[in-house]
Amino acid sequence: MFFTLNRYTLQLNMRYSHGMNRTRRKEPLYRKVNTRTHGVHHHSGGDYRHLRNTKSEKRAKDDGVTRGTMHGEKRRGLDYTPLFRFLLSKVGQDWAGIHAEAVSRLDREDPIFWMVARTPDERKDYVRIGETSYYSGLYVDEAGKLALVAPGLQNEHMKPSCPCCTYTFNGVPFVRRYEAL
Ligand SMILES: [Zn+2]
Repeated sequence: MFFTLNRYTLQLNMRYSHGMNRTRRKEPLYRKVNTRTHGVHHHSGGDYRHLRNTKSEKRAKDDGVTRGTMHGEKRRGLDYTPLFRFLLSKVGQDWAGIHAEAVSRLDREDPIFWMVARTPDERKDYVRIGETSYYSGLYVDEAGKLALVAPGLQNEHMKPSCPCCTYTFNGVPFVRRYEAL
């Protein structure tokens, strides 16, 4: 009886520590959006404009969907901010390893390429994710390292598009204020 209990306890401990290790190593680079706090923004630009007052906009509003603007639509309810921070933190390191780790911690691969250009003509100084979040554009240089497209681009260079929203560059609110034209 004593032996059986001991073995059971040992198994539990092993399972527990294994789970902890796995959690730490594979922490996802996305998180679920709280739809109560992330509603559709009042600014509607680009492709979204023609959806005004349509059933799909109403449905989107009801669901609290945010729309992506880069190379496709954001998946409903997922926020890839942790991925963008991860990528920024890896600038200067070998792309192969960064890419492999990112893929292992994502539900899908394409959000990587919202920020990282795959071809020279995809390179942008900065990219916009959603309505008000801007990030440095990235690419893979000749040496296979993750690099900034515009290393000199600073938060101070970014201009808000309206007076009422908080815009961010690499997660930090814009320093500059809105200036009417
Ligand atoms: Zn605004």
